[in-house]
Amino acid sequence: MKNKILEIFKKDINKNYYENYISQLNFKKLSDDNKTITFEIPNKYLSNYIKTKFLDTLKQILKKNPTFKNIENINLSILGEKNSMKKQNTNKSKDIVSFNKSYTFENFVVGPSNEEAYTVCKTIVEKNSKQYNPVFIYSSTGLGKTHLLQSVGNCLLEKNKNVLYISAENFMNDYTYSIKIDSMPKFREKYRKCDILLLDDVAFLTNKPHTQDEFFHTFNELHSSNKQIIMTSDRLPSKIHNLVDRLQTRFEWGLIIDIKPPQLKTKIDIIKKKSELNGIILDDEIIQYIALNIDSSIREIESILVRINASVNLLNQNIDLGLVKELLKNQISEKNKFITIVDIIETITKELNIKSQDLKSSKRTAKIVKARRIVIYLSRKLTYNSMPEIAKYLRMKNHSSISKNIKKTEQLIDEDKDFEQLINSIKKKIETTKIQDN
Ligand code: ADP
Ligand code: MG
Repeated sequence: MKNKILEIFKKDINKNYYENYISQLNFKKLSDDNKTITFEIPNKYLSNYIKTKFLDTLKQILKKNPTFKNIENINLSILGEKNSMKKQNTNKSKDIVSFNKSYTFENFVVGPSNEEAYTVCKTIVEKNSKQYNPVFIYSSTGLGKTHLLQSVGNCLLEKNKNVLYISAENFMNDYTYSIKIDSMPKFREKYRKCDILLLDDVAFLTNKPHTQDEFFHTFNELHSSNKQIIMTSDRLPSKIHNLVDRLQTRFEWGLIIDIKPPQLKTKIDIIKKKSELNGIILDDEIIQYIALNIDSSIREIESILVRINASVNLLNQNIDLGLVKELLKNQISEKNKFITIVDIIETITKELNIKSQDLKSSKRTAKIVKARRIVIYLSRKLTYNSMPEIAKYLRMKNHSSISKNIKKTEQLIDEDKDFEQLINSIKKKIETTKIQDN
């Protein structure tokens, strides 16, 4: 069977794509109704890549073949990921299948920006403590709310708890569907009898009075029977429009925690972790470049790793800084595109009241060391210059002294809020001057 299916694909797919991607599919099973075919795939990145690029094509190719004419779904199952739990718990809730098995505490990188949320979730799981109930976690998008919520879920599933994870949107869909098919008792049984409810993206309830009403009763029932509730949102309860007061009050009963954007060190740790998990080897300079240049969301970091992996597999390219810069080009904000070391030096010499020649000299007074530090750091963050280029410009020994310098700067930023603020304000000045120039 395996060879037969791959042969079918091979005929219709470009050789390069076939060899790099499709040949890695390993046939597992065809469902009894012939509608779903499952393949095993070595890792998440390949799986994501195939899903976004090839799934429809593969389906069409299969449908042309009489044996597979009924195919409606292609499932990709990642090699080595456990799905035993899924089987174990299918009778508890259909939503359990939406757990992502890679969203675990072990895969979550902890840093100052998310430590509190992590610790609270971990405590709930390990100590079964209801000290905080409900827990309300909020942050902007892509900073790990769903990952944490599902880590709680995955952990409790292993302990055979009746845990329910659902997005507020699906809660609403389930609710309206249950009304339609006249099965509200079943709906209530499901939501009010679980041990723990994990409700993701609760701000979706904005302007949904009926769903809010139903959730209000669900909440009360769970809370009064001392069942844990964890919710996430992209904003505070008070900022969710048209949330009925009684729900807002309840959301505020327990603990409200925010996840902030990660600092550089945490971003670096996350990139290391994600690339390790997916078998990509990146050297420190590349890791640092990605971390410095992607500001907002960890989801973006992941997408760049997917693209690195794809380029490497497809074009057989080595992962070097040039490739990564090219891939990141569109993600780096417009305003930074034209900033040069000269712009950076100009602003810093003005702000710190020093001469630009001093930066290139061997002087080591505290003030000049500090200014040089900021020039190096911001040059890496805001310009396309490589470490050797920066070293040459500042007449420093070599790129490893630049690298050491940046590491030290990161440490100082972590330790010293004033220094961090100084760097941020200089960065803003450089960017605004540049916008005015253009
Ligand atoms: P949110 O729900 O806040 O929008 P997600 O939980 O979906 O964000 O996170 C986006 C992606 O970033 C996920 O793939 C997740 O694994 C990853 N991620 C976020 N924070 C971390 C972290 N601290 N460590 C490891 N991965 C993270
Ligand atoms: Mg989310």
